[in-house]
Amino acid sequence: MENRLNHARLVSSLEKLGTIGIREDGKRYRLALSDGDKQARDLLCGWIKDAGLELKIDAIGNIFGLLPGTENGDPVIAGSHIDTVPNAGMFDGCVGVLSGLEALRTIAEKKLPHRRPLAVAAWTNEEGSRFLPGVLGSSVFVGDVTLEKALAARDFSGMTAGAELNRIGYAGTDTLKACAYLEFHVEQGPFLDAEKIEIGVVIGITGLSRWDVTYKGEANHAGTTPMNLRHDPLIAASKLHLAMSAAAAEKNAVFTIGHMEVAPGAVNVVPGTVFFTIDLRSQDRTVLDELHARCEAEIRRCAREVGVEVECVPTDHADPVSFAPRMIEKVERFANLRGLSNRRMGSGAGHDAQVFAPRVPTAMIFVPSIGGKSHCPEELSDMKLVCQGAEILTDCLLELANE
Ligand SMILES: [Zn+2]
Repeated sequence: MENRLNHARLVSSLEKLGTIGIREDGKRYRLALSDGDKQARDLLCGWIKDAGLELKIDAIGNIFGLLPGTENGDPVIAGSHIDTVPNAGMFDGCVGVLSGLEALRTIAEKKLPHRRPLAVAAWTNEEGSRFLPGVLGSSVFVGDVTLEKALAARDFSGMTAGAELNRIGYAGTDTLKACAYLEFHVEQGPFLDAEKIEIGVVIGITGLSRWDVTYKGEANHAGTTPMNLRHDPLIAASKLHLAMSAAAAEKNAVFTIGHMEVAPGAVNVVPGTVFFTIDLRSQDRTVLDELHARCEAEIRRCAREVGVEVECVPTDHADPVSFAPRMIEKVERFANLRGLSNRRMGSGAGHDAQVFAPRVPTAMIFVPSIGGKSHCPEELSDMKLVCQGAEILTDCLLELANE
């Protein structure tokens, strides 16, 4: 299949967007609804208008460029996000939005026939680095989160998303629905690059469970308290870590204690309190349910064994989602037609696509992240493959619009 898109224009758009939100120290901070995010939004809206697309903005600030089809109805949407984590790279999210834009620019210019309308979308606050929860704009779009709740979300300084949306001028009034959803993204993991495979055909997105756990024991003298008389909460946490790491490994799941505070925290004192976070993920719903129950039981068992008190608060849960087989097959077929090596894979990271998958036909396309690095300035993908991913996105958009 021949290439249809203007690859140079896609690359230059990505590079231009990548220059926005760079601080004086050279680091890229484009947190949702910040001044940097506003500048990026202004740039994107300008491009949408220049391409002759209808610019639409909804009440949570999601931005759309709409290209009408020969028939009315809900558009096929290609989307992702342009907000970033602190000290970010330039690929995460932006690749998907600008590839969708490039697809629509080309379809409009070349007047490629399509019955259904098409739209490119940039979803508000995907990252959740500033406002919780993440995937906020897409969740409001599909109705998972109410607009009121989303607008009331507060950042670390107490500012609400609603006030920030008004301040940057992106509280719109348009409404839209999707008939199908496509998201092209960088992998953000190591598998494709390690295996030298060009395209990831995403079959679904991992589910997760998170907890905050506090173990309370007895602080005491490190020299005079014999091992058998201790109630050391760090021992309980260590037992839990080993037990759940082994259980996760056995089921092809992942278990992480990523943050821990040990108090009082002195070299010569047996710890009195340990606070830590748990992040448990699996692509398989049955496995996640099983490990979720197992983890809650182990948290208590390890506390009992060591004789410490436990306080356990669930902080997040998302079921794994699977994409529709015919959508997965579509991405795979176009990757094969274009002669690109590909493999099916789950996504270990969350994406806006996860909120669409239970409702409308949804698919994701991955290209390799070099060295598996993401959410850091070293984030890098081969621009040639980014352009090939954008071609597959366009193939899928046109096919869906004409089905
Ligand atoms: Zn992303």
